[in-house]
Amino acid sequence: MDNLHYQVDLLSAMNEKLRSTGEMYRLICDTSSDAFLFCQLKEHTFEMAGRFLEFFPFAVRQESDLNQIIEEVALDKRAELRELLDRSDGSREGEILECPSINGKRWYEFTQAFSKNEMGEITAKVIRIKDITRYRKQHEDLKYMAYYDLLTGLYNRNYFIRILRDWVFRAKEKLHVISIMCININDFKHYNDGFGILVGDEILQEFGLLLKKYQKDNVIVSHSASDFFYIAIYDPYGTDSADYIYEDIKKNLKNPLITTTSSVKAQITISAGVTQFPQSGSDVLELLNDAEVIMLHAREKGKNTIGYYETPILDDFLEQFTMEDKLRKAIDKNEFFLCFQPQYDANTKILRGVEALIRWRTEEGMTINPGMFIPVAEQNGMILEIGDWVLDEAFRIFSSWKQRFDTPLILSVNISALQYRQKNFIPKLLRLIEKHHVPATDIELEITESIMIDDFQDVLNKMKILKEYGIKISLDDFGTGYSSLSYLKGLPIDTLKIDKTFIDTVLVDKSSRIIIESIITMVKQLGFETVAEGVETLEQYEYLKDVSCDNIQGYLLGKPMTVEGMEEILTKQEIRIKEERRKNIMTGENDPK
Ligand code: C2E
Ligand code: CA
Ligand code: CA
Repeated sequence: MDNLHYQVDLLSAMNEKLRSTGEMYRLICDTSSDAFLFCQLKEHTFEMAGRFLEFFPFAVRQESDLNQIIEEVALDKRAELRELLDRSDGSREGEILECPSINGKRWYEFTQAFSKNEMGEITAKVIRIKDITRYRKQHEDLKYMAYYDLLTGLYNRNYFIRILRDWVFRAKEKLHVISIMCININDFKHYNDGFGILVGDEILQEFGLLLKKYQKDNVIVSHSASDFFYIAIYDPYGTDSADYIYEDIKKNLKNPLITTTSSVKAQITISAGVTQFPQSGSDVLELLNDAEVIMLHAREKGKNTIGYYETPILDDFLEQFTMEDKLRKAIDKNEFFLCFQPQYDANTKILRGVEALIRWRTEEGMTINPGMFIPVAEQNGMILEIGDWVLDEAFRIFSSWKQRFDTPLILSVNISALQYRQKNFIPKLLRLIEKHHVPATDIELEITESIMIDDFQDVLNKMKILKEYGIKISLDDFGTGYSSLSYLKGLPIDTLKIDKTFIDTVLVDKSSRIIIESIITMVKQLGFETVAEGVETLEQYEYLKDVSCDNIQGYLLGKPMTVEGMEEILTKQEIRIKEERRKNIMTGENDPK
C-alpha cells in the first residue's frame, strides 16, 4: 500500500514537473518573436507555437501541411526549403528565404534543431522560422544607397568608378577600348534657381530616366553630382558609341521635359566631352576629369556640342602597351644582350674603351634598339631592373676580357637618371665591381644632363664618392639639354661626350663648329677628356682631330658589335700594343699608354 502511495506521489510529482516544463516552453515560445513547429518524427504529428499563425494563414498538423509553407516561398527557392525540411542530419544552419506575400515581400530564416534518443536516432525536431524582413530591408536600403543615386536611381559616382576600374583592368588585358562621356545640362542653374529646387530635381530625374534607357551590359550610366552625368561604354562601336548615344539623347530632348510640380516645360540642351581608354590615359579619375574638362571646352565653343579627346593615335598607344607587357617578361626570358661600340684615341687610333649598348631580341626574333624601349622602361620604372642587369652583364664580360687581353681598356656603361637617383646605387655598383673583380678605375659611368634636375647636392655627393673609388663619370649627349658650360666647372666629371647632333652638322653649320670648339677649349682647361660620338665620315674625323677632340666614337671607326666582334678587335689591339711596347723598349721610349 505504501508502495502504491509512493508511486502515485511520484507520478503526480512527475506530472507536475512535466506540466511546469511544458508551461515554461510554451511561455518561452509565446514571448518569442519567432514561429516554431514541433514535429514528432515517429508519429508524424506537428504542433505550432510562437507566432506561427501570425506568420502563416494556415495550420500545420501533419506532414502534407508542410507543402503549404513551401508554397509561401518564392518559386525559385522552394526546392531549397524542401531540402531543408527533409534534412535530418542534425545540421542547424539557417536558410534565408524570400517569401512574397500579400503584405509585400517578406524574408524568413528557417533553422532546425533535433532531439535524439539514447541510440542516437532522431526522434523529433523543431523548425524555427524567424522573420528577418526588417534587417533585410535595412541591408537592401544600405546596399542601394551604396550603389545608387537616390534622386535618379542611376549608379552613383562611387559605384560607377568601381565598375569602371574593373573595366579598365579587363580592357588592359584584352586590349579593349572604353569610352567615357561626361554630359552636362546647359543652363541647369536657370531652372534650379528660377523655378526652385523641386523643379530642378524633377528635371534631373526625368533626364536620368532618359539616360537609364542606354544602360546595359557594356554601357553604364551614372549621376555624379548636380547636373553632371557620365556614360561609360565598354568596347564602343556602332549604336554603342559615344557619338551615337549623344545624338540619340539629343533627338529625345527635342520634346521638352515636362515637370509635374509646376508644369514647367524644360527645353533642355546638353554638352558632352569624351575621353577614351587607353588613348586618353588609364587612370579612371583622370579619365572622368578630362571628360569634364573636354565637355567644358566644347561648351565654350558653342552649347549643344560634343568634344573629343584628341591626339595620341591608338596604334601608338597599343604599341607601347604590348611593348610594356613584353618588356616585363624580357629579363626573365633572357631576351636582352649587350653590344659594344669602340671608342678610339683621335690621334693614335688606339682603342680607348668600349661603350656597352643594350639590345633586345624578342621572342619573334626582332631586334629592338634601346631608343624604342628605354623611354618606356624609364616611364614604368623597369629601367632599374634593366640597369642592374646591364651592369652585371657588362662587368661579367669586361672581367673576362681583362683576364684574356693584356690591353688598357675603359668600360663605359649608360646609367639612367632614375638608376643614379636610387639610394643604394653606389653600394650596389661596388658590390658588382667586387663580384666580377673588375678594377673600379676602368669603369666609366655615362650619365646625361637630365640628372642635374634632381637634388643637385645629392647628385654631387654621389659623384664625389664615385670619384673616391676611382670610377669615372662621363657626361653623355652633351649640348642637347639644359647644360651651360659654366656649371661644368663645379662637377667632378672626367669625360664629356659631344652629342651626335653637333657632329652631324659640323661641316655645314658654322655655329656647330663654334660650339664644338668652345666646348673643347673649355673642357681641356677643366681637365676633362672629350669624346665625339656619331662620327660617320672621314671629314668629320679629320675636323675633330684638328680641333683637338681626344676620342672618336662612331660608325666610321666601329659600329656597336657583339662580344665576339669586339674580341676580334681586342685581339688585334693586344698585338698592336705588344708591338708598340717592343718598339718603345728598343728605342727607349715609354709605354704609349
Ligand atoms: P647613347 O648613349 O647616346 O649611345 C650612342 C648611340 O648612338 C647608340 O645607339 C649608338 O649605336 C649610336 N651611334 C654610335 N655611333 C653612331 C654613328 O656613327 N651613327 C649613328 N647613326 N649612330 C651612332 P643605340 O645603341 O641605339 O642606343 C641609343 C640610346 O639608348 C643610347 O644613346 C643610350 O641613351 C640608350 N642606351 C643604350 N644602352 C643603354 C643602357 O644599357 N642603359 C641605358 N640607361 N640606356 C641605354
Ligand atoms: Ca651613351
Ligand atoms: Ca650619347
